[in-house]
Amino acid sequence: PTMAHSQALLVLENFIGGKFVPCSSYIDSYNPSTGDVYCRVPDSGKEEVEAAVKAAKDAFPIWSSKSPLERSQILNKLADLIEHDLEAFAQAESKDQGKTITFARTVDIPRAVHNFRFFASSILHHVTECTEMPALGCVHYTSRAPVGVAGLISPWNLPLYLLTWKIAPAIACGNTVVAKPSEMTSVTAWMMCKLLEKAGVPPGVVNVVFGTGAKAGEALVCHPDVPLISFTGSTLTAQRITERSAPHCKRLSLELGGKNPAIIFDDADLSQCIPTTVRSSFANQGEICLCTSRIFVQRGIYSEFLKRFVAEAKKWKTGNPSDPTVNVGALISKEHLEKVRNYVKKAQAEGARVLCGEGVDPLALPPGNQKGYFMLPTVIAEVKDESCCMQEEIFGPVTCVVAFDTEEEVILRANGVKYGLAATVWSSNVGRVHRVAHRLQSGLVWTNCWLVRDLNLPFGGMKASGIGREGAKDSYEFFTEVKTITIKH
Ligand code: NAD
Repeated sequence: PTMAHSQALLVLENFIGGKFVPCSSYIDSYNPSTGDVYCRVPDSGKEEVEAAVKAAKDAFPIWSSKSPLERSQILNKLADLIEHDLEAFAQAESKDQGKTITFARTVDIPRAVHNFRFFASSILHHVTECTEMPALGCVHYTSRAPVGVAGLISPWNLPLYLLTWKIAPAIACGNTVVAKPSEMTSVTAWMMCKLLEKAGVPPGVVNVVFGTGAKAGEALVCHPDVPLISFTGSTLTAQRITERSAPHCKRLSLELGGKNPAIIFDDADLSQCIPTTVRSSFANQGEICLCTSRIFVQRGIYSEFLKRFVAEAKKWKTGNPSDPTVNVGALISKEHLEKVRNYVKKAQAEGARVLCGEGVDPLALPPGNQKGYFMLPTVIAEVKDESCCMQEEIFGPVTCVVAFDTEEEVILRANGVKYGLAATVWSSNVGRVHRVAHRLQSGLVWTNCWLVRDLNLPFGGMKASGIGREGAKDSYEFFTEVKTITIKH
């Protein structure tokens, strides 16, 4: 950036022990919709992580001894404060991530608020177990206690949404935390830190250390005083975290990538299925771990589906994320855009047909967005199941449509990837819906809908999509240590 630019740059600071602390070096952060550097993010390492872990350790005795009700009131206050500033948070998330302002306003920030409210409530309602052995004169019961300092690492696609999905249960259970958001999307976490004191969160309960995965992330993962890591991100990084944390036998929760199928039977209600499947493919630029990227359509309706699906996808407007009529914003980075485009090129080289989007339709951008990282929703047909486009997570606005004949065949093909996060099934035959849902290797199955979540229930993936689940009971179990106590009377 030029000097003129750098004067206007937003400079973030780490939040440690209740105070903003400058860092000795910084990373540039880009506005994905313009390609300009607009923000500088601390490039933290061991030293900063050490200070944050110390602050979290010091805060633990007081925070963990507060009653669930006291903690609940503080979480609710924080939710109110974020909600009060919802528009400012949404603007910041859209600018930092490239997502549309509409998505940030209606999904990201409301969900971040809800995460705090949800765990503020659920923490009041847990019960532990008790069993009796009258013949032996014994009663057994379980007791749960917070674990200590939780390390929380989150990705760039739903920045505040996913970070708060970890912070809220961790602190509701009485842990203190050191969080490291993605270096590409740190702004809303920093904005949230400004509200903690007012909400009544004591210093050191929530510490945020900004920086890269390789430096700040690994320092957190390797820190001996952080017994638990909750991570959301790619499968490759999760493997690295597992290796690095193994010498300490840490407790890990890993929410990873997906290659999610949609299975559309010939008795599906296409008037519901088509707009929902366009949304499940392209929402947030396809940068949601739950996005559909393999669409299996039963042969009898294949050509009709394809025609209507492409027509619907073409209605999605790509452009300036701050325009409320835009559906598709910018991708996170230049490198990521290149990676996503390359998948489309590979599919073409293998003989697949690109029906709309990348390389087929013109992309007209406003003058201010010419250097942004934009791509049109892209639909590819006639892709082989072995193709990298059908096997690897693309994490962009690209979806593949293929035909199938039988229920048995489609289950095998849908399960034929290394991932197992989410699937959708479209059919009006209730027996079939249950049969298929049971046989899919997938942590979540939505039938005749997508992305309808009850936070009470487990969230997470099978196979390479993760280890562990998060949700009301699951997060409570993950963020607490259980003890079985036996009393003889
Ligand atoms: P990523 O794995 O590159 O990074 C995620 C986080 O880990 C970032 O904060 C990063 O700085 C940090 N990190 C990177 N290397 C690290 C290391 N060696 N040690 C510690 N931390 C490290 O993922 P991303 O590109 O930011 O996010 C996209 C991925 O996240 C996709 O694969 C997507 O499917 C996945 N995701 C999964 C879910 C889910 O709930 N299952 C939700 C959203 C995104």
